[in-house]
Amino acid sequence: MDLSSDHAYWRVKSGIIANYPPLEAERACDVAILGAGITGSLIAEALSADGHHVIVLDGRDVATGSTSASTALLQYEIDVHLIDLIAQHGPDKARTAYRACYDAIDLLEERVARLGLEDCNFTRKDSVYLASRARDVPILQAEAEARRQAGIEVHEWSAGDVASHFSFQRPLALHSPQAAEVDAYRLAHGMLAEVRRRGGEVFDRTRVTAVEVDAAGVILQTDRKLKVRAKRVVAAMGYESECLFDTAGLVDLRSSFAIASEPLAEAPGWWRRCLLWETARPYFYLRGDGDGRAIIGGEDLPFRNPAARDRLVNRKGRILEKRFHEMFPAARMESAFAWAGTFGETADGLAYIGSYRKHPLCYFALGFGGNGIIYSVIAAEIIRSSLLGKQHPWALPFKFDR
Ligand SMILES: Cc1cc2nc3c(=O)[nH]c(=O)nc-3n(C[C@H](O)[C@H](O)[C@H](O)COP(=O)(O)OP(=O)(O)OC[C@H]3O[C@@H](n4cnc5c(N)ncnc54)[C@H](O)[C@@H]3O)c2cc1C
Repeated sequence: MDLSSDHAYWRVKSGIIANYPPLEAERACDVAILGAGITGSLIAEALSADGHHVIVLDGRDVATGSTSASTALLQYEIDVHLIDLIAQHGPDKARTAYRACYDAIDLLEERVARLGLEDCNFTRKDSVYLASRARDVPILQAEAEARRQAGIEVHEWSAGDVASHFSFQRPLALHSPQAAEVDAYRLAHGMLAEVRRRGGEVFDRTRVTAVEVDAAGVILQTDRKLKVRAKRVVAAMGYESECLFDTAGLVDLRSSFAIASEPLAEAPGWWRRCLLWETARPYFYLRGDGDGRAIIGGEDLPFRNPAARDRLVNRKGRILEKRFHEMFPAARMESAFAWAGTFGETADGLAYIGSYRKHPLCYFALGFGGNGIIYSVIAAEIIRSSLLGKQHPWALPFKFDR
């Protein structure tokens, strides 16, 4: 399956950042990580920091799966409201999930700073969640209260506040100072460079075709008929895990569309070039980037196949462009790149992270929705704790049997 269309902005912008060879000889390691997207690379860096000898294998080029299509807004606010998550899972698990997402933004900032990865452009931002319709107002008011009870800083903005910050009207908005934006493609490469400096190995264009478990650990077979022996395996294969593991039915696939504008010298009516999204579904969302571009996404659809998705790129791009112009009539925005990607959603909006009873010695990081990168950060923490024999305090809401 093609996880993104050909002209995903980040891949065009940064091109080939580093060369990783395909695997050409048998290997052994402590932990083999399947997938060198943002999830696999964050996990690999965390595990190598703990002293594990890791090998990362990817069937494609590094970070050219859904990572290269990601618009990479970093938000603690997941697609399912906290009030709905409390109704499904109870207050403890729901609040733990939201707090994990909230704290993971700080954690990622620390990791990026510690490794000196300035070129991934991690930038702190404000996030504003718009009530699309009057009937969403009481929902967002209840949501704000639930978040405050979970220790999350959030501010309710009245219609007047919205009008004073933006060039459009909405009946209410939630303003969150805890948010950021990043270049996920560069971030993945930066993490893997650190893994290699510590003696870990990264092989791309190396597809794993079979996984077997024996008394000594796990044996992976690759498409060149080579074996990698590992004590443990982490599946960070995005939406293709079910090709190797019995994980079908956990995640619904969707297609999502995005455009990046030409750099905007000015963006009148767009307060601080903040992250913006809304209650309407499918939603429209927006961020800036260090080059002054607006990166605009949304218009999601149930996934059918990559060809059908890619045929819609131009039409969906025009709709996103029109929405931007309606909201910011004084901004002279021209679209420069348009692309599409595939992402997965779970029924409750939470990722599946940890071991899965059907697969001994394997850990999974699966099922990322609109804020999948934050889930990747959380997955790295939960899995590194599991490998140290401890249950991470964030683990419960993300378990397969939650
Ligand atoms: C258009 C779009 C916009 C998005 N916007 C946001 C956003 O604003 N914020 C956010 O947080 N998230 C966003 N997401 C979601 C986010 O991009 C994903 O959660 C994230 O990229 C998933 O990363 P990953 O590493 O798990 O998957 P991937 O990047 O897909 O990496 C998985 C890797 O596994 C490899 N693989 C698969 N099978 C095998 C095998 N058998 N052997 C070896 N390798 C294998 C693949 O080749 C692939 O490189 C968006 C997604 C899309 C598509």
